[in-house]
Amino acid sequence: MSGPATGAAGVFQARDAHYIDGKWRPAAGEERIDVVNPTTEQIIGQVPAGDARDVDAAVRAARAALPGWAATAPAERGALLAAARELMSARRAEIAATVSAELGAPPAFAAAVHANLPISVMRSFATLAAEYEFEERVGNSRVFQEPVGVVGAITPWNYPLHQIVAKAAPALAAGCTVVLKPAEDTPLVAQLLAAILDEVGLPAGVFNVVTGLGPVAGQALAEHPDVDLVSFTGSTAVGRRIGAAAGAAVKRVALELGGKSANVVLPGADLAKAVNVGIANVFANSGQTCSAWTRILVDAERYDEAVGIATEAAAKYLPGQRLGPVVNAKQRERVRGYIRRGVEEGARIVAGGPEAPEGLGTGYYIQPTVFADVRPEMAIAQEEIFGPVVVLIRYEDEEDALRIANGTVYGLAGAVWGADEDAAVAFARRMETGQVDINGGRFNPQAPFGGYKQSGVGRELGAHGLAEYLQTKSLQF
Ligand code: NAP
Ligand code: MG
Repeated sequence: MSGPATGAAGVFQARDAHYIDGKWRPAAGEERIDVVNPTTEQIIGQVPAGDARDVDAAVRAARAALPGWAATAPAERGALLAAARELMSARRAEIAATVSAELGAPPAFAAAVHANLPISVMRSFATLAAEYEFEERVGNSRVFQEPVGVVGAITPWNYPLHQIVAKAAPALAAGCTVVLKPAEDTPLVAQLLAAILDEVGLPAGVFNVVTGLGPVAGQALAEHPDVDLVSFTGSTAVGRRIGAAAGAAVKRVALELGGKSANVVLPGADLAKAVNVGIANVFANSGQTCSAWTRILVDAERYDEAVGIATEAAAKYLPGQRLGPVVNAKQRERVRGYIRRGVEEGARIVAGGPEAPEGLGTGYYIQPTVFADVRPEMAIAQEEIFGPVVVLIRYEDEEDALRIANGTVYGLAGAVWGADEDAAVAFARRMETGQVDINGGRFNPQAPFGGYKQSGVGRELGAHGLAEYLQTKSLQF
């Protein structure tokens, strides 16, 4: 690592401050986080490593702002979100360049997904704020949907702006106020969003950002007694602890955790399409997608053909071009460790491997890796690897496929491919998972997203996502 380097063109300039109560406020302590570009391994900025004092100041600001924001008409809240969407759109290139710099996403993917997806999610909540029925009649009662209160949002680095907007937009639409602790690896786009919300004139204290480390700032936020709801996206290990602490304090919690989703290719499905789309689904974002279909399930008869298709498809993901680096050196070592473990377990590498890709001087790159002869109980078929690694598992019949698909602790997403759509839908209904794409159905930013089993608690996006930030009150007449 060398540095400090000057900011690349179009990248948001790091602020050495937290965004609290409508102002950029100096941190209480001296600690700083270096933001590193995973492609160049250079330091591109520094942000404060906040501590409990910063978190407390932000929570106080959010608490003070709550009554006014909760009483603001939903349509007016929606209008501010619509203005934020406009500004995000105007600064789309800066968003893409910033995510590209701090996450390492290839520029085309950063623009198409890391910038565009949160813009469309912001739009959907601007609309929902204005159109949602916050009040209903039930017999002699009027039932009101009221904001839960102060939200503590803790987000990861893999879709850094999307995961922030998927929490902040519905929370703000609902009338909640927010304190965000973004991932230490990707704080710049969080600061950029704060600058945008500041510019649209969101009232002071309604949205706050404290940058910092998970076990320090994150934990202080999750355990703060004046936070009413903790919304967390990240690893199951940390989510479990946050859920336990929230349970003990009797506060609401939403957990968006890991996955090991199955891509089930039924006999008779278009095999080439299913495998090619499946490979693209995993290798996008360098495999760092919680909903990635990291297990491809193919019937015994067509298994060898599927392995050939997957091997050819993987070859198109050239590291340094279509395939970006993973986020940091630690993740690279973790992913390589899984690749070595797969070999030790007796799986067969048909593309990639644990060695660094050739010809790249810097960057946390991993070869796009495909494993064949994978048994469902192997660690590489059970654990979330979070890198460009996919496993192909053979099944005997549909019952066997269903047993394998459901045979992990996770249940976040999945895919089913079949010649008969009704049969594919029937299979998907038996999967223990929160989302299933049938024959390549495209991502819907308004469909509820969230996990069965250990993939989480609660749903994000759309009206279901908004409901997470509401609590009900009944008045009888
Ligand atoms: P992580 O530690 O769970 O990070 C998620 C967020 O929680 C970050 O903001 C993190 O801060 C914060 N955090 C960490 N420890 C905390 C604590 N004790 N209390 C409160 N907040 C805390 O995940 P990671 O270390 O970045 O990645 C590890 C693995 O998690 C990955 O390899 C992957 O398998 C999984 N993961 C899943 C998702 C998903 O979308 N489901 C996303 C990312 C990672 P820091 O940034 O300082 O760590
Ligand atoms: Mg961490």
